[in-house]
Amino acid sequence: MKPDDWHLHLREGAVLNKVLDFSSKVFSRALVMPNLSNPVISPLKAMEYKKEITKRLGRNSEFTPLMTLYLTESTKPQIIKELKRGHIITAIKYYPAGATTNSTNGIKSFKTILPVLEEMAKNDIPLCIHGELPGEEYDIFDREKLFIDLVLDRIISIIPDLRITLEHITTLDAIQYIKHANKNLAATITVHHLMLNRNHMFQKGIRPHYYCLPVAKREKHRKALLQTATSGNKKFFLGTDSAPHLSRDKESDCGCAGIFSAPYALNLLAGIFEEEKKLDNLEKFVSINGATHYNLPVNTNKITLVKRDSPIKVRNHIKVNNDKVMIFGKDFDIYWEIKLPKNESF
Ligand SMILES: [Zn+2]
Repeated sequence: MKPDDWHLHLREGAVLNKVLDFSSKVFSRALVMPNLSNPVISPLKAMEYKKEITKRLGRNSEFTPLMTLYLTESTKPQIIKELKRGHIITAIKYYPAGATTNSTNGIKSFKTILPVLEEMAKNDIPLCIHGELPGEEYDIFDREKLFIDLVLDRIISIIPDLRITLEHITTLDAIQYIKHANKNLAATITVHHLMLNRNHMFQKGIRPHYYCLPVAKREKHRKALLQTATSGNKKFFLGTDSAPHLSRDKESDCGCAGIFSAPYALNLLAGIFEEEKKLDNLEKFVSINGATHYNLPVNTNKITLVKRDSPIKVRNHIKVNNDKVMIFGKDFDIYWEIKLPKNESF
């Protein structure tokens, strides 16, 4: 079955134009993140953004962008009922203020948004969380665990009925917490966190294109993620967190966090699952578990992956506005290829 991407950054304008095909030709649906430079904080803005995306899709495209709303401390509980009626958005996104790209409008204290979260639980609207506790006093490698202990655990104990996705998990602590939590809590795992540990950022020099948030952790955490993603456990599924940034913004004095992984996400995953001898569970991770958590039908359309005898030619970057966006995958041998319908290419 065709896969879904439960965490995707498509950006706007020229970048959106260049990156959309990589997701829309492979994935059936994607949960589109709302942290634009002018964030998607209202249903109207979500509708406009959806229009901007869909007008760029080919006429025969089977791709559905699922929209999210950016939660702020000013979001009112009343808006949740309107959202439920309007079917405009699929989930609401919680960014702790200052945790990542364009998160300055995010949440400073979870207590201020409890009435909104309660209304979401009543109306069965899922919450997606960037689970890191920001703050210079916290070590960057501990921020996920701190968020779980000090914020997530408290939200779940107050509102156990709220459906939550803890996004892009990176630690053994997160895996264990999710496995033991109630059925409403699930998590996405990215391709790059399955492939990189924290040393990759510093191999023979600094590698700005391997810098993302949450930052990659120790090898033992990567191994645990690998084991969990390939296990078929229905609480874990793919969210690529593919996040294109122009090279000049990543290779700068203060480089942006984010890895553009959409072009080879599925190819790389097929290789990972094959190596773990778990190819049978690939479909659960990319096509079934996520749809089940979001209470949506599993796709019926299909996609074909073919294994080649030698590595396929991997693109290094795409050009955007006299600059480029580097593609994740160029440092790896990729043997799996996606067979697109005739007359289609990337
Ligand atoms: Zn993200």
